[in-house]
Parts: sequence; structure tokens; C-alpha cells
Amino acid sequence: MKITDVEAIWLRVPALDQACEWGEDALIVRIHTDTGLIGLGETDSSPAVVKALIETPASHETCQGLRQVLIGENPLEIDRLWKKMYRSTEYMGRRGVAIHAISALDIALWDIAGQHYQVPVHTLLGGKYRDRIEAYGTFIPAATDEQNHAIVARLLSQGLRSIKLGGAGFGENLPRDAHILRKIREQVGDEVQIQIDLVGRWLNSSHAMAQCNALREFNLGWIEEPLSSDDLRGLAYLAEHAGIPVSGGEGLATRHEFRAFLEGSRPAIVQPDITRCGGISEMLHIYEMAQEYGARLVPHGFSTGILLAATIHFLASREFGNLIEYSQSDSPLFRGLVKNLTPLENGSVKVSDTPGLGIVLDEDMVQRYRVRK
Ligand SMILES: [Mg+2]
Repeated sequence: MKITDVEAIWLRVPALDQACEWGEDALIVRIHTDTGLIGLGETDSSPAVVKALIETPASHETCQGLRQVLIGENPLEIDRLWKKMYRSTEYMGRRGVAIHAISALDIALWDIAGQHYQVPVHTLLGGKYRDRIEAYGTFIPAATDEQNHAIVARLLSQGLRSIKLGGAGFGENLPRDAHILRKIREQVGDEVQIQIDLVGRWLNSSHAMAQCNALREFNLGWIEEPLSSDDLRGLAYLAEHAGIPVSGGEGLATRHEFRAFLEGSRPAIVQPDITRCGGISEMLHIYEMAQEYGARLVPHGFSTGILLAATIHFLASREFGNLIEYSQSDSPLFRGLVKNLTPLENGSVKVSDTPGLGIVLDEDMVQRYRVRK
């Protein structure tokens, strides 16, 4: 089998001069083969930049567009192709957006392999530990108590027992933050886990400690990215003294960044995004490393049903892969791009046993939202 073409497809719901809030644009890839099998992948990144990384012509050996790198290759040689892609983008890559592009292509290669061998991707990864995976839901706090009450009620009605809030300035006003959390804790009771996402908003470790001291009474499951991911000493201080589990890592790429993060900040939880960290292949390395450091891996995941499927197959195949983020976006790219989107049912998702990733794209939606540039 040989790769005959690589498509980088930029999707966007609002017009280019309008803002996206969450989940309204995407970069998906299709890898075509001479046997007719097509692999699907995606990355949650800047679509135009990733598209350029895939389509650019070669400048020299360590600066090549990834489409050209893959055409003519056997898609089943995933490990060799990952290393070839990494080396071929060494000068412009190694981290960040080049790894995002590689992530999308790696996921598509695993999809092809599963279809070729007629087994689900989780079987290729060693087999599944579970048939269902518990989910948690994320929301952006609204302006009023009544609105937040309605949002949380909607999450609970989906059977979720774990929820997370962040964004809209959460983390910038301690009395307001504490008020929001008090109301939510009163609403959900003691059994539901609540997490908060600071997106690196707290200023430094002493500022963050003051926030933690004030918020500890709400019994938070974790505090996510309380400081910049580069403030390893500050994060390590919080890990030791905050008395609340610290999590982070959704913006990190490759095992190399995760090793520095785990070693330097000793988080309780790492949150690689399978579409950014290097794909399914790299996620396996990061999972093993997290185990060595005693950290739990709870992936970040907030884009289309392609990301969701890849994350489900990965988690199903890991011994401790028992919590997944389920997007609460109403974007058509989440709700409808994958025709057989894995639904959230009573707070959990089912593990698919269909060969490959087991997903079908809505071609009409691809045509409707495709940016042709
Ligand atoms: Mg986050």
C-alpha cells in the first residue's frame, strides 16, 4: 500500500473576519492510499499555519512540507514515518505547530492501519481495558448566577459527575470567583467533582497560593494551568503547598516537553491534547512517562469528533485511561462534522469496536465550511 495524496482541509463556521469562541474552526487531514483506504486526522491549532506546513514545497532536507514527505510511503510504517516527519521539519519544527501537523497525520495513519487490519485502533494499541469511559464537561462561566445555574443543570442532566469551568476572566477577581464556586457547590452537592481552569492567569506562586487558600473550601478536583507552563518553579511550589491537585500541559508537544514539565513542576495530572502533542504515537510515550512520575493523564480535548474518537481509542487502551473531556460546544463542527459522533450517554462515552477510528465524515459539511485559499 502506498500513500497517494495528503489533503489539509481548513474548516471555519464564522466568516474569517469574525471571532471564533470555541470549536468553530478546525484543520482536518485526509491521507489517501492506492488501495482506496482513507485515513482521517485533525489538529486543534491554527488551521492556516498547519495547512502551510503540510503543503509547503521542500526547501532542503530538514525543511520540507509534510505532504511531500509522505507521498509514496507505506502508511503502515507509522513509527518510521513519524520520525521521518520529525526530521524533515527539524529547522521549522521540533515543537509547537509542526508537531501539531504531525499529530493530525499520525492519527490518520493509525486510522488507515486499523482499517487495513480490520481492527479498531485500540486493538492495535494493545487492546481495550474498558467499554465505556467516564466524561467531564467544561463550561465558560456566564454573567449571572441564574445563567450559571442553568448551564450547570444542563451538564448534570447529561449524567456528568465531573465539571470544569474557566475563561471569561475567571481567576482575575477572587471574590467573584469564590462567589461563582460557592453557588455551584451548593447546586451540585458534595458528590460532583468541580475543577477550575485558570489558563495561566494567576501571576506567580505567592499570588496563586493566596487564591488557593481562599478556594480550598470548595473541594476542587484540580486547578488547571494556575500559572504559565514555563513557570516550572512556581508550579512545583504549588504542587507541594497548595493542597489542591495541580494540572496542565494542554499546550505542550512531544515527550521532551512533557519530561521537562513533569520533572520541573511535578503536577498531579498532565493533560496532553492528542491532536497537538504528537498524535497517538507520541501520546503512548507521554503516558508511560507520566506513570513513572506518578502523574495521572487526563487528556485535553475540545474540537471535532475526530479528536474525540482518537482520544477514546487511546484511553480505552491504557490501564488508567478512565476520564475524558467531552466538548460542550454547540459548533456544527463538533455536533455534525463526524456523522456518527460518539454521544455522551449518562455521563460516559462508549468505546467503538469499528475498524480504524470508526468515524464517517459529513461531506456536505466539509464542502459548506471549507476555506478555499
Ligand atoms: Mg485548559
